[in-house]
Amino acid sequence: MLDDTTMLGSIITAEMSGKLFTGSFEPATGAVVPVTDKATGEAIFAAVDGTAADVARAAAVAKAAQPAWAALTPVARGDILRRFAALCEEHAEEIGRWIVRETGSIPPKAPFEIMTSAREAVEIAGLTGQPVGHILSSSLTRASYARRVPLGVVGVITPWNSPFILAARVVLPALAMGNAVVLKPDLQSPVCGGYALAKLFELAGVPAGVFTVVPGGIAAGEALTLDPNINMISFTGSTLAGRKVAENAGKTLKKVALELGGNNAAIIFDDADLDGATSATAFGSFFHQGQICFTIGRHLVHESIAAAYAEKLAARAAALHVGDPNKAMVHLGPIINERQAAKVEKLVTESLASGAKATAGGGREGLYFKPTVLTGVTPDMPVYTEEIFGPVAPIVTFSTEEEAIALANDTAYGLVASIFTANQTRAMRVAAQLKTGIVHINDQTVNHEVFGPIGGMGASGNGARSGGPSVMDEYSQWQWVTFNETVPQYPF
Ligand code: NAD
Repeated sequence: MLDDTTMLGSIITAEMSGKLFTGSFEPATGAVVPVTDKATGEAIFAAVDGTAADVARAAAVAKAAQPAWAALTPVARGDILRRFAALCEEHAEEIGRWIVRETGSIPPKAPFEIMTSAREAVEIAGLTGQPVGHILSSSLTRASYARRVPLGVVGVITPWNSPFILAARVVLPALAMGNAVVLKPDLQSPVCGGYALAKLFELAGVPAGVFTVVPGGIAAGEALTLDPNINMISFTGSTLAGRKVAENAGKTLKKVALELGGNNAAIIFDDADLDGATSATAFGSFFHQGQICFTIGRHLVHESIAAAYAEKLAARAAALHVGDPNKAMVHLGPIINERQAAKVEKLVTESLASGAKATAGGGREGLYFKPTVLTGVTPDMPVYTEEIFGPVAPIVTFSTEEEAIALANDTAYGLVASIFTANQTRAMRVAAQLKTGIVHINDQTVNHEVFGPIGGMGASGNGARSGGPSVMDEYSQWQWVTFNETVPQYPF
């Protein structure tokens, strides 16, 4: 399984194969499972499918290591995160190769994930120099203050689609605030989503046991949500699984942060720059094969420009190359697995049968799905109502601003939306009425920046935020302390 030695390097080494990480790479009780190249199906490594016992072990180790980590000065923790940032840069090429092969992404996505994580580490390290609390006012003659304290151990569950950044954006602030972490990456991407981070944090100087990794599937995820040594769960994944995570976290009274699915709308008004808009929305629907929570799933276009918009978008879709990103310069790689490719195909086929028309793409060869533009889509079609998670751009028309807003909000999800218009006043007015956690004006929806509080509303999340100063609140809790020089008088 490790014959493809070109994949091994100074970060990913044979000693990690089939192991869990609790400060060192150790044998686990779970089965050893292959990690595959998504374009070829070739086994390129081996991970462990962690069991509840493996999760319990990592959680106990993390719990034991956390107090000493929290007792370090915030500045000392920040310095370690800065070293992590430098290591990301140093090893970007090696980690990037794993991102391409484990997730089927095109090569330029890899440095984006890694260097955004490095930036995240630097900015979050900066937060460790910020005040740790407030001196409070009081109606009594006593000292009164509030300070942030860590939660304890944070369990982090991540999906396969952008495994490095989606883990880093949670693990970094959790560590900065003095928590220990158990990370459970998806079994489809355990190397770039787990083992690589284990090695980087080890090299950065995170003490043994403070950061642990248990690759695994649903059983490991559920064990994490129920483990008594875990104080918070940060979950990034589907809305379906998020509901189960919240239920389990409720049973054991854990704080829970949910970053879930989306069915994101781009609204294109009649005064939009159509060349610019279609370039942006083609990227928003087709980048990473449409397998991003922020992907544009619905193109809401003013009826007067719909034909021209559809034509330009279809021309852009038809010009994109699809293939193995490890072997050729392509715009789109494979869909992550056969189950997901078949699901996308079914959504498209059903919509075509109900009257939609494919003006570009419309089908697949194995895991390679052609970028697809659908016109004649109506809001009752499943391709419109469901999160597609594939390279499909359904176009729906509207006639008034009110109708566009109503269509955009006509979904249980509320992650991100885009507005394309030359009218700034209208853009701001519409943005204020959209029920999404993020709005981009004259840009597409797949936007990630360290400084923005990223998160969704409704079925897209429970108010969890990563990015910006909000992460200090997300990964800590407040303690109120009062101090009296003498005990006050009471009537008892
Ligand atoms: P998924 O929900 O199937 O799996 C995500 C993770 O959860 C995996 O690690 C999986 O093993 C684990 N898991 C699954 N069921 C679980 C359970 N009952 N208890 C605990 N853990 C469980 O999602 P996926 O298919 O891997 O990822 C795609 C989904 O993730 C899409 O819906 C996408 O929109 C969403 N996503 C959201 C964001 C965001 O920031 N909002 C980012 C990326 C992906």
